[in-house]
Amino acid sequence: MQKRFGDNIVLNDLNFEVAKGERVTLIGPSGSGKTTILRLVMTLEEATDGYIYIDGEPLTHELRGGKRVELKEKHKNDVRKRIGMVFQQFNLFPNMTVMENIIEAPVHVLKTPKDAAKRRALELLDQVGLADKADAHPMQLSGGQQQRVAIARALAMDPEILLLDEVTSALDPEIVGEVLSILRDVAKTTDITMLIVTHEMQFARDVSNRVLMFDGGKIVEEASPEVMFTQPKQQRTQEFLSAVL
Ligand code: ATP
Repeated sequence: MQKRFGDNIVLNDLNFEVAKGERVTLIGPSGSGKTTILRLVMTLEEATDGYIYIDGEPLTHELRGGKRVELKEKHKNDVRKRIGMVFQQFNLFPNMTVMENIIEAPVHVLKTPKDAAKRRALELLDQVGLADKADAHPMQLSGGQQQRVAIARALAMDPEILLLDEVTSALDPEIVGEVLSILRDVAKTTDITMLIVTHEMQFARDVSNRVLMFDGGKIVEEASPEVMFTQPKQQRTQEFLSAVL
């Protein structure tokens, strides 16, 4: 798979698989293409060449009669429904309440009846410790609380795949822990496949089954968290980890 922005080849010759239920963390220096991978899976970007498959289904393009063919919007939307994403900057709808934020996609995309969507939203708010904030607007919440709402909103779609893009990078250090502990719980109690970009190496170590080290749009090393964080083989990984750990 390749992704180019203009002349800038951001991901080149990239080829990797994630098994169902696996939790894979992507690490690497700024600009190595980690966020772009999550955005490609979420279909917020499209590959310039090559293919991405979700459970055997092509995501945005497929090879048909030797040609790379773009798939219909309807198909892309159907695949997209199975994927949830939490962003660094929360991206909540500012003009909606917490409840409205969470039920928006289940009601409009999945066509879940409003009452059932609300019941599920309350359960999720309880799970993220914000049962009393259903009627608040995002601006009335702290960054950590907004991020917990964003997690509840992603889970409300019952995703098969959850993409976490540096979800604690915009938070004050003292509230990073509360967000990570919710995600540790999600990792422990569900079988959602997770693709994680994070600079929180202890979190990566706790939740992932596998860690991929990126540099210059390529995977330079792939290992279990135990091996990656204690005895990485590649010099590039050693340099990167000694700078961030
Ligand atoms: P960081 O940790 O800083 O977020 P990253 O590894 O996630 O880095 P990406 O955000 O994926 O890296 O960016 C990889 C490269 O792609 C960078 O050179 C970036 O400038 C470029 N890039 C990303 N998005 C766009 C875009 N929409 N248009 C043009 N270039 C982009």
